[in-house]
Amino acid sequence: MLMKKRKMNRKLNFNAGPGALPAEVLQQAAAAVVEYNNSGLSILEISHRGTAFANIIEESKQLVRELCELDEDYEILWMHGGGRMQFCMIPMNFLGKDDFAGYIDSDHWSHSAMEYAKFYGNVQVLASSADDRYNHLPSWPEFIPAHLSYLHYTSNNTIYGSQWQTVPKCNVPLIADMSSDIFCSKRDYKNCDMFYAAVQKNVGAAGVTLVVIRKDMLQRIKRSLPSMLDYKAQANENSILNTAPVFAIYTALLTLRWTKAQGIDSLEKENRQKAHILYEEVERNSLFNLYVQNKEDRSLMNVCFTAIDPATEKGFLKFCEERNISGVKGHRSLGGFRVSLYNAVTMQATEQLVTAMKEYEHSVSI
Ligand SMILES: *Cc1c(COP(=O)(O)O)cnc(C)c1O
Repeated sequence: MLMKKRKMNRKLNFNAGPGALPAEVLQQAAAAVVEYNNSGLSILEISHRGTAFANIIEESKQLVRELCELDEDYEILWMHGGGRMQFCMIPMNFLGKDDFAGYIDSDHWSHSAMEYAKFYGNVQVLASSADDRYNHLPSWPEFIPAHLSYLHYTSNNTIYGSQWQTVPKCNVPLIADMSSDIFCSKRDYKNCDMFYAAVQKNVGAAGVTLVVIRKDMLQRIKRSLPSMLDYKAQANENSILNTAPVFAIYTALLTLRWTKAQGIDSLEKENRQKAHILYEEVERNSLFNLYVQNKEDRSLMNVCFTAIDPATEKGFLKFCEERNISGVKGHRSLGGFRVSLYNAVTMQATEQLVTAMKEYEHSVSI
């Protein structure tokens, strides 16, 4: 190889998405770009219809089943187009022109999913915290009308930092956007009829979306659709209807292997510890204000806060940069800071950030 070796100064990465990946996943993915499994070919060069890739798809599906404790009742698909493409495909497939779908409006993403649905049918908002700029979760609806084609919600609100701690049972098909918190804790995935995750937060590299869908949902498809946009056609072709994003799916497989090796229980334990020390510090620190005040609504994955004195905002970002801490700037719609604590973010990195917050407070007050 022509590349010169240089020791990389790896930053502490708190980016919201694409987010941090485990170092060993990056090394394995890099090695596969040079040569995949002694095949004499790069992972970027192998056929999506060959045996090697068929094995990658099979193992990845098996791992998703294991990690979510699902049986053969569910199809596991790898889809193009990111989370937003699912915002379109869900109503295209499951919402007839005169039908109603329920949406829980708890953040920018869930709101956006609902706006896409309006192209295809009627939307009923069953709960919303939009009037409070999403600084808490809305109350889960006590009554869910039986005529709804489905109920859609976002399990973790990536931009504002709130999260539903459990997956509720539902009397109509329940569809969850789990893009930013899949595999962060043990949960009843079976309560969902469909869930999906754009993988660039907790499962891999951008370019593919994991879609898990109960087989009986495929009988509920309302329209005749071009095969690329039809869940049943995608399931029949095992996600290789067209050229699959081979590398993105392979990176997801590497992350799934890593996730299984850690164990969801131990990841959850560490995620709780990371979130705990960070929330504690934001609350203690005289410079910052936490965005989501209700303890039970707070996200384990995205911690959002603002500078009490806006003059210190830039200063803290610069302070972080000087300490090799990256990705703490808040989303453009909220400003302030957002720290993402995805599975691959270590306790040690979180502790270093907490230390930087204390040191910054000290440097400002002298
Ligand atoms: C990041 C994110 C998405 C968007 O995914 P894209 O792949 O950028 O379309 C959707 N939903 C949630 C909850 C997210 O965090």
